[in-house]
Amino acid sequence: MSQVQEHETAATFARRALEAADRAEEKDAAWRVRALRANGYRNRLPEDKPMKHITLFYAALLVSALGKGDAQKVNLFDWSLWERYRSTVAHPATTLKAEHFRRAKENAARYAWAQQAVKDLEARAQTALKWDDAYLAHIIPATTPGTGHFTMCPNCETAPVHGSWRWTPDKPDEIQCNGCKMVFPNEKFPEDLVLRSRFDPNQTFSYYGGKSWHFYGFHTRPSFTGYIRAAKVNYAASAVYNLAMAYAATQKSEYAQQTRKILLRFAEVYPRYLIHSGYGEYADIDPHVAAKSMKPLPEEELTPPPNKPDRLLHPTGNPFWMAGRATYSGMEGYFIRELAVAYDLTCMAKDETGKAVYSEEDKLRIERDLLLEGTLMFVADPSINNKSGSNRQAAAIVGMAVGHPELVHFGADGFWRVVNEWFLPDGATSESPAYASMMLGGIYELGEALHGYSDPKDYQPSDSKRLMNVDI
Ligand SMILES: [Zn+2]
Repeated sequence: MSQVQEHETAATFARRALEAADRAEEKDAAWRVRALRANGYRNRLPEDKPMKHITLFYAALLVSALGKGDAQKVNLFDWSLWERYRSTVAHPATTLKAEHFRRAKENAARYAWAQQAVKDLEARAQTALKWDDAYLAHIIPATTPGTGHFTMCPNCETAPVHGSWRWTPDKPDEIQCNGCKMVFPNEKFPEDLVLRSRFDPNQTFSYYGGKSWHFYGFHTRPSFTGYIRAAKVNYAASAVYNLAMAYAATQKSEYAQQTRKILLRFAEVYPRYLIHSGYGEYADIDPHVAAKSMKPLPEEELTPPPNKPDRLLHPTGNPFWMAGRATYSGMEGYFIRELAVAYDLTCMAKDETGKAVYSEEDKLRIERDLLLEGTLMFVADPSINNKSGSNRQAAAIVGMAVGHPELVHFGADGFWRVVNEWFLPDGATSESPAYASMMLGGIYELGEALHGYSDPKDYQPSDSKRLMNVDI
């Protein structure tokens, strides 16, 4: 059964359920009831009433769902809830909780395998432990990263249309084609087509200006330097996550201190990372404005010729489908989740003298300029699809890490819609098993993070459903 599509709103969903109940013969009425119940209506839905007796109830439910639509207009771009509740967060508050680390410590005291696991975590953190400020500025550039897609090798044109490349942290400023082994950037194929941002003239985006590759109405142009920037920040995000995990497992403050330095570098540059598309177009305006008006954009985007600006990021359907700021394929949530968990695990750390590793100013900057900033595209996208699951997860995890309960509700709403709508009653999906795996990979940690979550004591959520000691 695949009637419930991603674009279906709560109101239309309830309306269809009402119609199904009116025609009690429709086979899927029962699962719709189950889905509605599990999707937050459980307190209002009678468990065992025969379908023919609950039509009136459905009418009430429809009104309720329409009302819910209004409630969802809560301005998630407004961070005042964060200012109010940030001091109520007891860290660690996201995926990994204090009890997990207590258990890990006990295991490490008892078992060789657990000691080895801690050693492995520390080993993974060693490289990034050595990064100094100069290296940080290099590996986390001030210019918006480009795309890892649609980067054809002009020399051998292997692996159309994306190309196939090798990037390693040992040689962070080059990529090597897996087809012809040529290294780029390369004088033979110069990036001589340069676009300068109007929003931030310090940012320029360069492309190979020779042949372009026409792909479903769009001319793709490789930007080897853009690919490299994207690879660098992806690597840095994984590195900071590894550092934070090493700190959580050992409580050695050096790991927390380095986590802080990297997160502060991200917080310095991220607010000026433009929303851009995996096809190589950049929304050349303040991302706060772009996120709210992606279709159409208020101003012309930067696009490499012969494409012409059309105030849309390609592809032109769901404007978030291939969008990112540090990333490029509609799944910025993976990136933001790593940074949010890294912050959550280390923000209360103290050094050997008992002094806090993070100052209050550090915390404010990271929470505001990186983590909340990272949710802009998530909260602007109401859809549930195989990419946005990871973004809902990150929104909730940021909400837990910084103390913004409405972000947690936004993410939790997505979690239940994935469980009850995107996955079908028989456990399959209307898409392929591979896409089911992709969705699970993006959202399973939210189940763990939500388990045990409670809203701040005096918080009244917009949907009137307080989350209290959630049992997933
Ligand atoms: Zn090649």
